[in-house]
Amino acid sequence: MAIPTDNPLDVLIIGGGASGMVAGIQAARGGRRVAIVERSPSPGRKLLASGGQRCNLSNTLDSEQFMDRVGRDGRFMGPALERLGGPKLREFFHGIGVATVVHDGFRVWPETRKSSTVLAGLMGELERLSVPVVTSCEVLATSFEDGLFQTRHAAGSFASRELIIATGGLALPKSGASGGGYGFAESFGHKITTRHPAGVPVVTAEDWTARCTAHTIGKAHLQVAIKKHSKVARTGDLIFTKNGLRGPVVLDISRELSPLLERYGEVPLHLNLCRGRTQEDWQVLFKGWRAGRPRPLREALGEHLPDELVDVMFELSGIQGEVTVQQLKGQPRDDLARTLSRTPITVTDHTGYDGAFVTRGGARLKDVHPETLESKLQPGLYLCGEVLDLDGPCGGFNLQWAFASGYLAGTGARAMTKDAGHVPGRST
Ligand SMILES: Cc1cc2nc3c(=O)[nH]c(=O)nc-3n(C[C@H](O)[C@H](O)[C@H](O)COP(=O)(O)OP(=O)(O)OC[C@H]3O[C@@H](n4cnc5c(N)ncnc54)[C@H](O)[C@@H]3O)c2cc1C
Repeated sequence: MAIPTDNPLDVLIIGGGASGMVAGIQAARGGRRVAIVERSPSPGRKLLASGGQRCNLSNTLDSEQFMDRVGRDGRFMGPALERLGGPKLREFFHGIGVATVVHDGFRVWPETRKSSTVLAGLMGELERLSVPVVTSCEVLATSFEDGLFQTRHAAGSFASRELIIATGGLALPKSGASGGGYGFAESFGHKITTRHPAGVPVVTAEDWTARCTAHTIGKAHLQVAIKKHSKVARTGDLIFTKNGLRGPVVLDISRELSPLLERYGEVPLHLNLCRGRTQEDWQVLFKGWRAGRPRPLREALGEHLPDELVDVMFELSGIQGEVTVQQLKGQPRDDLARTLSRTPITVTDHTGYDGAFVTRGGARLKDVHPETLESKLQPGLYLCGEVLDLDGPCGGFNLQWAFASGYLAGTGARAMTKDAGHVPGRST
């Protein structure tokens, strides 16, 4: 669908991803003339890739719990979640023909378990509302001249009364992520905070991980072993890779590790691979083993860890040869108890934006009204989704934010056409 160029649009949205599409729907539902421009040949490419192409679009946490889990700056999400938090988002999707389900009490999925259903629902609604989505159209620059936004692309420019930047972040470049939106925001005076890949596997200095790739360790606990940052810790499923760590717990903690990597160059971690068992717990267990039947230490430990990891624990504790549970004494015993409860490993890198779920960092939050997502620096300009300096852990947090923030920006933009009288920071 082409954009008619005879009159300025009420609202132009840059980016046809999760946040941009919902912003377009919401602005058009208010009767505004809206269009979306998307640089990729088709919209919603990252949405399609989400959740292993099944799209974990939200979760069942209430807004308070949701913001707590997001952590740093989570409270900025309050007004957006009030408008389109989990239950309302599900109603929104049901309203456009996308039924949702929760099987584990936490994650919200489309009933079909296909992200293509979510995209089709959003595109169908945009079509019903006659919102053009112009694809293969990369926005190159934006400005505000004579009371209108001018959005320039290779073949010309669009004029609009309101402009929404919904260009996402840097993760998964093949989905269209370009980072261009940061420059557009900067051109209106917005500050961009340092960006890092988040939700990303990490690389370690130790190569023993390559021997353990066959195993998923449930409820592994990872803690940063730098005193000042020792509160950075997560528990969840851990998978070893040929050069490091991945799995849900790593994706989660990597949000915190990427900035620390930049600061320190490398980040030492302590792993607890035995469901939180402490050094003291191990000492008690060893004592019990000593009092029991004679048997190889390897066999006893094999009840708690895969064989490859037992080897690693022996190596790290300096235990050589075959040792029975009765022979485990003194320093080697203490070293083993410590290694088992706090296995040292050093993160030296992450695997970059290609393997990341989300970007940490972006357009600075204090330049944006949380109630509307309108810029404090340029009236009529809105920012939503991942382009803002907000990210959440895995589990539907980032899509929920993209949808809710798109909804809020669309609501704000539709209320703020010139006819309505522009009042920055307020919407109806
Ligand atoms: C592999 C993967 C799996 C994920 N799974 C989940 C999940 O299950 N649950 C969850 O909550 N989150 C998930 N996420 C994160 C989530 O998908 C994103 O946070 C969310 O899609 C961000 O939405 P957005 O609208 O801000 O950006 P995007 O969806 O990235 O949309 C931005 C759009 O803007 C376009 N664009 C950029 N620059 C320009 C320009 N100059 N001109 C025109 N268009 C432009 C891009 O092409 C893109 O289509 C996943 C991410 C990845 C990479």
